Amino acid sequence: MASTAYRNGTLQKGNVKPITAACSNLKPPSFKSRLLNPSPSSGSALRCGNNPSSFSATGNDGVPGRVRVAVRLRPRNAEELVADADFADCVELQPELKRLKLRKNNWDSDTYEFDEVLTEFASQKRVYEVVAKPVVESVLDGYNGTVMAYGQTGTGKTFTLGRLGEEDTSCRGIMVRSMEDILADISLETDSVCVSYLQLYMETIQDLLDPVNDNISIVEDPKTGDVSLPGATIVEIRDQQSFVELLRLGEAHRIAANTKLNTESSRSHAILMIHVKRSVVGSDEALSSKADNVSHLVKPLKPLVRRSKLVLVDLAGSERVHKSGSEGHMLEEAKSINLSLSALGKCINALAENSAHVPVRDSKLTRLLRDSFGGTARTSLIVTIGPSPRHRGETFSTILFGQRAMKVENMLKIKEEFDYKSLSRKLEIQLDKLIAENERQQKAFDDEVERINLEAHSRISEVERNFADALEKEKLKCQMEYMESVKKLEEKMVLNQRKRESNGFISDRSNGEVPGVSVAEEVAEVRKMLQNEMYMRKAAEEELNKLKSQFGQYMQSGPCEDTEISKLHKMLEEETHQKKKLEDEIVILRSQLMQLTFEAEQMRRCLGEYGNAYLGLDRHSQYSETGNGQKAPIATLFEQVGLQKILALLESEDTNVRIHAVKVVANLAAEEANQKRIVEAGGLSSLLMLLRSFEDETVRRVAAGAIANLAMNESNQELIMLQGGISLLSITAADAEDPQTLRMVAGAIANLCGNDKLQTKLRSEGGIRALLGMVRCGHPDVLSQVARGIANFAKCESRAATQGMKTGRSLLIEDGALPWIVQNANDEAAAIRRHLELALCHLAQHEVNAKDMISGGALWELVRISRDCSRDDIRNLAHRTLGASPVFKAEMRRLRIDF
Ligand code: ADP
Ligand code: MG
Repeated sequence: MASTAYRNGTLQKGNVKPITAACSNLKPPSFKSRLLNPSPSSGSALRCGNNPSSFSATGNDGVPGRVRVAVRLRPRNAEELVADADFADCVELQPELKRLKLRKNNWDSDTYEFDEVLTEFASQKRVYEVVAKPVVESVLDGYNGTVMAYGQTGTGKTFTLGRLGEEDTSCRGIMVRSMEDILADISLETDSVCVSYLQLYMETIQDLLDPVNDNISIVEDPKTGDVSLPGATIVEIRDQQSFVELLRLGEAHRIAANTKLNTESSRSHAILMIHVKRSVVGSDEALSSKADNVSHLVKPLKPLVRRSKLVLVDLAGSERVHKSGSEGHMLEEAKSINLSLSALGKCINALAENSAHVPVRDSKLTRLLRDSFGGTARTSLIVTIGPSPRHRGETFSTILFGQRAMKVENMLKIKEEFDYKSLSRKLEIQLDKLIAENERQQKAFDDEVERINLEAHSRISEVERNFADALEKEKLKCQMEYMESVKKLEEKMVLNQRKRESNGFISDRSNGEVPGVSVAEEVAEVRKMLQNEMYMRKAAEEELNKLKSQFGQYMQSGPCEDTEISKLHKMLEEETHQKKKLEDEIVILRSQLMQLTFEAEQMRRCLGEYGNAYLGLDRHSQYSETGNGQKAPIATLFEQVGLQKILALLESEDTNVRIHAVKVVANLAAEEANQKRIVEAGGLSSLLMLLRSFEDETVRRVAAGAIANLAMNESNQELIMLQGGISLLSITAADAEDPQTLRMVAGAIANLCGNDKLQTKLRSEGGIRALLGMVRCGHPDVLSQVARGIANFAKCESRAATQGMKTGRSLLIEDGALPWIVQNANDEAAAIRRHLELALCHLAQHEVNAKDMISGGALWELVRISRDCSRDDIRNLAHRTLGASPVFKAEMRRLRIDF
């Protein structure tokens, strides 16, 4: 057996057996099928004997089955240290990035990435561990494996692979270290290691262990694709020492052969083949259960042997690929060396390109490596380079060879990703584009803004023009109407005066200004009716008295007939009933009379004002005289009818009566003297009830007016609040459409706003929101009431704040009043403007409001008020207020407002 072929490092000729002859018989058919489905982590394709082109079966994704390529840089040798002293190395290594930069010139270089980059300082141990150890391990696991060294002569291929390291163990190369690991892993009882050592020179294979054997042929099993060298010496190794001696012997034979052939080792390829045979009894069970899809087909019945092959190739110097010999033998040699190396290069290219055809048959080297390279085996390539810039070209082609072996596509991708120069160029171009685009957009934007501005200006001026035209027209129309109505009134007045003079009606106090004909006549008629009623009553009373005395006489004159008495009783009852009815009528008529008188008075006052304005008369003298003249009938009637009765009429079923009654109450409430009596008699409750229950707009308007009048009095204000007045007024404010109703409601709330004690309640019951809601109507009378309410409220708040009774933000601001205040603070209508100016001043006095006021634009209004307000007191107040507020002052400084 082979185990006896080599003992103690001594080669025993004749005992050496060709490797396949010995092995093929041992290979059980079940072995292959068991290994067909390897675990994916194995990192390489399996030994798959029946694949005739196993050389080409590199994984497509290039990761697990890919040829791993390391680059190793030799340190400068003595000659280079001198000759290249003034030059930098042609390469620069970045081992941490696994990159190599090949200098093109002083300022430019190309970057390449490898699986491993080994610097000139890399130890032999490390080189072995990263390049060969994984291959050795997979060989021990049963796969074929190859480690090749490629590079220019003198760059360290033999150093890397073949150093024996006898003097210095740290120098041991890959061959020695591989065997150490193999021997450590196997069991000499059950496993075996055999070695062949060959040289390939000019397409001839020589046996380095038996130099006589100088033309060994390659045999390929057509079925399995296994490659064998039946003529080669095979030596079993049982210890490291004998292996080292074997290597030394092979090296000696190599030198001798080269001398004989007149060549040198750098021109030949040295190939060490290590055959490992392992028995896998026992562990086979586990293996078969893992290989699930085939295990059930093949049950291991006997001990199995696992065979694998490690091929270590020290290739000829790569420079021979490019430089053809010049003459004779040299030329042939160059061709031959070229043949194997270039065939290897072609195969690698084909693999890298995933080509269908891999030219394995072109050379002995590629035929020999067929089952040990690529897909079916784990393969490592180490490319060795020197540092000298003089050999840059060789170094470059060596690097390219390594790159191709790694698959060219991968490299291109990475190069692009990390090429910072082109990336930077790209980014610059992109940046330029973006800047240009940005400028373009900015320009377009500016143009658009300009266009919109122009358009807005022209629109504004157009609207202003239209507005001015419309205003002018409206003004003219009003003036015409005014003149016309004045004229009409004048005519009417003259007519009335004449009529009255001729009738002798209301002779002494008319003073020429008399209500319309119909009203006056109505008054006269009602008076007449009243007079009649009074006469009738008097007559009835007289009749009653008469009957009473008759009854007394009758009683005195003795008993009389029952029938007569009961008749008289009946009559008496009827009379009493009649009397009651008449009395009620009188009340109604009186209240009607009162209302009519009041309306007449209103009309007269109106006419008086028109007339006076037109005639330029003194308004006051006119007014007071009328006032005095008018008071008498109302007061008289009031006394005659009685407040209770009028208030009772507020609840009348008859709408007209109700309207009359509420008008009377409203007129009475206008007089301060009556207010107390009205409230005491329950008038306030009745009026509030009218707001609550009656839909009629007139009733609501007049009732609200009456409440507004009553709300001028502080104690009434509290009563109104107590009786839910704010809610009722708010509901009316929300419902009503008529500006006059709204004016009354706003007036009522505005009055309540002026009460310090009611602030919180008023706000919480929605008073402020109700006020603000009414601005929707837009009528100046309503707006001025709203403004008054706001001013009242703000005044109370600022008073409370000054007294330390209020700390938080203004409730007006809380309820969102500020925007409206700011918007209308400069209203054309003086009443609105003045109230809102005052409101702003009050709000500004409380520092806690300052921030909101600034953000709401109130500061500008305050500045305006402090400068332009026509009323000295308000102007000064604004000025004082602004001057006292640090926040406003700071903001004014920031805005560069002179103050
Ligand atoms: P090759 O086999 O590629 O022609 P060699 O292995 O014979 O090259 O190396 C040439 C010379 O360089 C030898 O003297 C060798 O000792 C030395 N050498 C090669 N690589 C290294 C290295 N990594 N460190 C130190 N010396 C080296
Ligand atoms: Mg060498």
